[in-house]
Amino acid sequence: MAYDNDNIFAKILRGEIPCDKVYEDDHALAFKDINPQAPTHVLVIPKGAYMDMDDFSANGTDAEITGFMRAVGQVARDLNTVDAGYRILANNGADANQEVPHLHVHVFAGKNLGSMLAL
Ligand code: AMP
Repeated sequence: MAYDNDNIFAKILRGEIPCDKVYEDDHALAFKDINPQAPTHVLVIPKGAYMDMDDFSANGTDAEITGFMRAVGQVARDLNTVDAGYRILANNGADANQEVPHLHVHVFAGKNLGSMLAL
């Protein structure tokens, strides 16, 4: 499967649609989820065109992967979530119900987040 250049996060990266940005650097952009599932719910995305964690971990450069992981940690610190705790989650593919085919890590915080999976 090829990367879809018209996915909504690609449009956000190109500045074609707005987002509520909370962080940006050379490798990553972070913005508030439009349909928050926790008091704090932010998405962190790599700037490169990667569909999911499988694509990114196989094809991302070392600099992209390092930069992205550091950005996820920085976003969590910037949101003051570290002391109370936070959860990160990345849906990959059909069984995980990934909706947007550009890798994104959800950062949830701001309350006790309960059990890991609600099935
Ligand atoms: P996933 O199911 O992991 O692919 O999650 C996609 C997430 O993207 C959902 O939590 C949506 O609420 C969120 N989302 C979709 N469109 C936007 C948008 N334009 N701005 C911010 N978040 C969005």
